[in-house]
Amino acid sequence: MEEIGIVIVGGGIAGLATSIALHRKGIKSVVLERAEKVRSEGAGIGTLSNGWRALDQLGVGDRLRLNSSLIHKARTMLIENGKKREFVSNIVDEARCIKRNDLVEALSDALPKGTIRFGSHIVSIEQDKTTLFPVVHLANGNSIKAKVLIGCDGANSIVSDYLQLNPKKAFACRAVRGFTKYPNGHGFPQEVLRIKQGNVLIGRLPLTDNQVFWFLVHMQDNNHNGKDQESIANLCRKWADDLSEDWKEMVKICNVESLTLTHLRYRAPSEIMLGKFRRGTVTVAGDAMHVMGPFLAQGGSAALEDAVVLARCLARKVGPDQETC
Ligand SMILES: Cc1cc2nc3c(=O)[nH]c(=O)nc-3n(C[C@H](O)[C@H](O)[C@H](O)COP(=O)(O)OP(=O)(O)OC[C@H]3O[C@@H](n4cnc5c(N)ncnc54)[C@H](O)[C@@H]3O)c2cc1C
Repeated sequence: MEEIGIVIVGGGIAGLATSIALHRKGIKSVVLERAEKVRSEGAGIGTLSNGWRALDQLGVGDRLRLNSSLIHKARTMLIENGKKREFVSNIVDEARCIKRNDLVEALSDALPKGTIRFGSHIVSIEQDKTTLFPVVHLANGNSIKAKVLIGCDGANSIVSDYLQLNPKKAFACRAVRGFTKYPNGHGFPQEVLRIKQGNVLIGRLPLTDNQVFWFLVHMQDNNHNGKDQESIANLCRKWADDLSEDWKEMVKICNVESLTLTHLRYRAPSEIMLGKFRRGTVTVAGDAMHVMGPFLAQGGSAALEDAVVLARCLARKVGPDQETC
């Protein structure tokens, strides 16, 4: 059986960032990702100052700043029974929206070649009876023994099941995210704009002068599974039907391929405070640990912070001079 020092399950934001953070401390790791290439669902991602600090620590902040513009304000409108209430706050710290694919590409480019093993789907984990180290079993029949196993495998984490964490809770709502291009420029101010009207919450963040990232949440229409891109697009058009013309237009002319439909889940803060997130040399990070609703735009930034902090802690135990891989 192959033996590896540090195995990270999942090559999303948390997994790639953790591997880079370790690499920058001189510690090798291997990322096992079930997909066949680097990819990230969800179109764009709002990234706040804690996320940018972590990206700078990982050495990829400046590359990402090149393709994302600063956001200066957050505006929220509540429209109920024809009445509109508006709340505006200035954003003094760094806030930008980035394309998710730009983010995961920048992270994967910062890793030494061969760190990510694509097509590696972990199907089960057990503890080696003699050494007590974790053994991961892959869908292709191979097994790997790890000295340290870090689960960065997202909201449906198999590693969090191994740690016997409680299942995540579901919000009674679904969200769609996507991009819309405006060939002649969108002309919107550099602000996050969110509107809550009836059962719909819609928001928009400018990415560049001619492209916006948007999300659309329906608080009650919870039964749709979005079997294909066109059906997700039709669902969005239905949800946006009562909104003003500019929002309807944004949804109508969106890039259908960019759309993703997500059933929102969360781990309750009390569980995060009281939960046991380590068993022997196995732990979790990112959504596998603390999946949360998108309402604070913090899941991705928190995953990046996890990576920096986890590598700092591991480096104290497993210095670069020690044989880990
Ligand atoms: C609607 C919505 C909007 C959001 N908006 C924002 C925002 O604006 N800002 C923000 O910071 N956050 C936002 N988030 C949260 C953010 O998307 C997540 O917190 C972040 O993507 C978590 O990254 P992760 O790497 O932990 O998990 P994921 O991105 O889910 O990555 C997990 C990886 O593990 C792989 N994997 C899973 N299981 C296995 C397995 N068994 N074997 C091998 N590989 C496996 C997957 O293929 C995937 O690549 C939003 C979330 C939603 C749903």
